Amino acid sequence: MRLFSLLLVLAGAASAASATAADALRVGEIAAQPGQQASGYIVVPDGADPGTRIPVSVFNGATPGPVLALIAGTHGSEYTSIVALQRVRARLDPARLKGAVILVHMANPTTFYGRRIYFSPDGKNLNRVYPGQAEGTLSQRIAHAITTQVIVPATHVVDMHCGDGNESLRPYSYWQVTGDPALDAAGKRLALAFGLDHIVIDRERPVDPSRTLYTSNTAVRRGKPAITVESGGMGLTDEPSVRAQEAGAFSVMAELGMLDAPSVKVDKPLFVDRSLVVTSPATGVWHPAVEKMQSVATGTLLGRVSDPFGNLLHEVRAPFAGEVLYVVGTPPVSEGEPLAFVGHVTDVEPK
Ligand SMILES: [Zn+2]
Repeated sequence: MRLFSLLLVLAGAASAASATAADALRVGEIAAQPGQQASGYIVVPDGADPGTRIPVSVFNGATPGPVLALIAGTHGSEYTSIVALQRVRARLDPARLKGAVILVHMANPTTFYGRRIYFSPDGKNLNRVYPGQAEGTLSQRIAHAITTQVIVPATHVVDMHCGDGNESLRPYSYWQVTGDPALDAAGKRLALAFGLDHIVIDRERPVDPSRTLYTSNTAVRRGKPAITVESGGMGLTDEPSVRAQEAGAFSVMAELGMLDAPSVKVDKPLFVDRSLVVTSPATGVWHPAVEKMQSVATGTLLGRVSDPFGNLLHEVRAPFAGEVLYVVGTPPVSEGEPLAFVGHVTDVEPK
């Protein structure tokens, strides 16, 4: 009896110790002890096609708290997030951090070094194959690795994008509305904290956790608040676009009580309550007729698709009145690919 009691006391002491001193945080092949940071790689092994190594930094705070994952470079030519996370890494101090931050510096190195847009060499869009497959092609294996090694240990996720190498984009974030009041409120809190004043309401993402398609949806369908943010585009690294990503990341950490940092929280958000990606009816040469942030009426000419000789194939028009959130700014276009993203903007928060 006495021995049994002693064992219970020892077990209690052990669990109390682990509750007060957080454990090492392991991601891929790296581990960071409490109060420490580490950088290294998540190795995506070779499979049907060559694998890759995803560069990751882990900042494990001295005290427990939220685990925020910041994911950059899902699309290889979306550079602003990749540059911003280098700055975030240089400024973060794990000794002054509550909780932990996982930085995925470049989710898709193969597309980055190959200067690709939209698609990996396997022809797949990484942000359409989540939660991924361990035995799939490269995009699916990357998605599987990020799901299991980054999204699962995280409590909050920010997926950082901009217009791809061909997209001229105004800054905005996506707030996913699921119908779960607590989760939706937590997602909105992240979107406001990140500081981009246009917030696209997204109600269309798949519900099935085994077929989430998108990075942020993979977190949301596992009960974790997550947003997707967009700042920059056209393959540029202009200072305002990079700074918005960097400032937004720190503002989210401040909002979650992880550290002291300046808040860029949106005071008066504008909501995009209706939006549509206008896709190309044909493969050809795109001649845009509008610019990002331009207001359009129903039927406003967005641009023309010609054949290679210059003969008009299609005039492409706005489906409803709104603002151009992005427009493809370079000539190549294939049938079914995006040409423009039009959104109806309101200052009335949707129900
Ligand atoms: Zn993207």
